[in-house]
Amino acid sequence: MEFEFATATRIIFGLGTVKNIGSLAGKMGRRAFVITGQSTERATPMIDQLEYAGIEVAKFRISGEPTTDLALAAVEEARRHTCDFVIGIGGGSVLDTGKVVAALLTNSGKLRDYLEVIGKGQPLKQKSAPYVAIPTTAGTGTEVTRNAVLDSPQHRVKVSMRSPYMLPELALIDPELSYSMPPAITAVTGLDAFTQLLEVFVACRANPLTDGICREGLQRAAGSLERAYHDGRDAAARTDMCLASLFGGLALANAKLGAVHGFAGPLGGMYNAPHGALCAALLPFVMEANINALQSRASESPALNRYDEVARLITGSSAARAADGIAWVQKLCLKLQVQPLAAYGIEEKDFTDIVAKSRKASSMKGNPIELTKEELLEILQKAL
Ligand code: NAD
Repeated sequence: MEFEFATATRIIFGLGTVKNIGSLAGKMGRRAFVITGQSTERATPMIDQLEYAGIEVAKFRISGEPTTDLALAAVEEARRHTCDFVIGIGGGSVLDTGKVVAALLTNSGKLRDYLEVIGKGQPLKQKSAPYVAIPTTAGTGTEVTRNAVLDSPQHRVKVSMRSPYMLPELALIDPELSYSMPPAITAVTGLDAFTQLLEVFVACRANPLTDGICREGLQRAAGSLERAYHDGRDAAARTDMCLASLFGGLALANAKLGAVHGFAGPLGGMYNAPHGALCAALLPFVMEANINALQSRASESPALNRYDEVARLITGSSAARAADGIAWVQKLCLKLQVQPLAAYGIEEKDFTDIVAKSRKASSMKGNPIELTKEELLEILQKAL
């Protein structure tokens, strides 16, 4: 057994912890580039504290999931203001943009040089500028991952910039920031966290450290997602979901994902659909396809026991088997009003192209069994 585990330099978690942002950030630099989403309501008290602590702040707002052009615009702004560190306050979209800015503040060259698939995939030479990642959704765990996902509309694909140097200096997770998420965003981001934990747990690159993290995260997400969906101010449920998101990030950054994310990358580049919504629509059908394929072609695979264990963890029943796990996830998706793929304009005529792109996605390599073209097509058909 051999594995490596890397994460953010420092993780601070807890209700109300963002009130310390001024003193925490004061140790990182004097001029902060602060990225937020369109609504600055959640970020304003933190920006006030930064300014009170004598830190100069240059603000940048983004909307939607980041494109390569948007990330470049942010980098140019940060350079123009000669910022020496970066703070991202928002969902995965904001936090990923911040990672790219922090990386390109200290590394010369073009963004394309560092992008996988559509660029040269060159490694970063210098450590990123200090980066504080403050999530306001509970889903991606990007505050502790070493990549940023960018959409390239020109290529109709989402690609990563990836480097151990992109791990944030500080991940500051305050569940209170997630209270304002409406039910629909709570559902899809929460199901993204759940999917990440589940995929890593059954993936071929899981290790004992990610196993423990995933078990804990799956139980918390299974017990709390529905509660957070119905009552956004349920502190215990929001805390559990922020932990599940963090744990998903810790796990995926140190292992591999699977077919749900193998599909979600290309689909996210081809259609205007939120990442979490795509994951949620695909999850039960990928579970079903994987279990069927393992039973017929690799019945000795430890992944089958893993699916049984997932079922026990999420249902809370010691007698549960893999099929009960699928049924439980299907029921949850129904309760959280998960939309099928067709709701995002995905059409059958694109299936061959989607499958071809998905088979090349790096997450697909973590899937516990290689799915055939026919099996992948069937998943899309069922999720449509
Ligand atoms: P998001 O950041 O796109 O946010 C979704 C919506 O929620 C936005 O409209 C945003 O303004 C809103 N929002 C955010 N916080 C809110 C709050 N507290 N209250 C009310 N509204 C709020 O969604 P996300 O799922 O967090 O991130 C998705 C992005 O993250 C995608 O681009 C995906 O590819 C990427 N991602 C990255 C990694 C990684 O490791 N780098 C992992 C998974 C996903």
